[in-house]
Amino acid sequence: MTRQSECCEWYKLRNQMVEDQLIARGIYDPRVIHAMRTVKRHKFVPTDKLSKAYEDGPLPIGLGQTISQPYIVAHMSELLRIGPNDTVLEIGTGSGYQAAVLSHLANHVITVETIPLLANEAKETIQSMGIKNISVLKGDGSLGTPHHGPYDAIIVSAAAPRIPSPLIRQLKTGGMLVAPIGTKNSQNLVLYKKMVCRSVQKTLYHVRFVSLIGKWGV
Ligand code: SAH
Repeated sequence: MTRQSECCEWYKLRNQMVEDQLIARGIYDPRVIHAMRTVKRHKFVPTDKLSKAYEDGPLPIGLGQTISQPYIVAHMSELLRIGPNDTVLEIGTGSGYQAAVLSHLANHVITVETIPLLANEAKETIQSMGIKNISVLKGDGSLGTPHHGPYDAIIVSAAAPRIPSPLIRQLKTGGMLVAPIGTKNSQNLVLYKKMVCRSVQKTLYHVRFVSLIGKWGV
């Protein structure tokens, strides 16, 4: 296969993914759809999983971790209503795919990964794609990044027993946070909106993520 036809094949598969897995299931935000059409998911999956890069599910990325299902990446991104001037925090960089999608929606993305090897690999992938508005940090993201915030939006890409309170502190008033909350085997996606007086929290649907470790993790 020539390089051009290979590129065209990936492009077709990606558009198919967007139509069948995202738009058909209700993803509607044009900016999110554009980001999902643009970011090359196949660059973020291990080479032995390449043929599954645009399939409808999570994939192992090594060290017991996973790249999330495309629909979940798109829906979590859409729920946060990210604007072009926003700064977004992600906890759990993994492959860097979710961060890359967010980088098309926000002004700046800060993503924290606890496994140094994954953080390094994600950083390399992101650099190789020419994305300049993502900072990959190493450490316990359950504590947030006390020296950066406050953030317009926060996305937690690993499951925690409850929303880590440092993350709520580092969220701007009016900002939203989305996270899988529950036990190792049973979690729900939770959307939290920080308000001046009474913050609101909505439980959406059942999900399955790898566990958040660290101070506010399992
Ligand atoms: N968003 C990723 C998938 C995340 S998988 C993607 O698009 O590929 C969850 C990730 O969270 C794993 O890489 C895991 O190592 C990381 N993680 C778990 N606990 C963490 C913590 N306390 N701080 C930062 N990262 C954490």
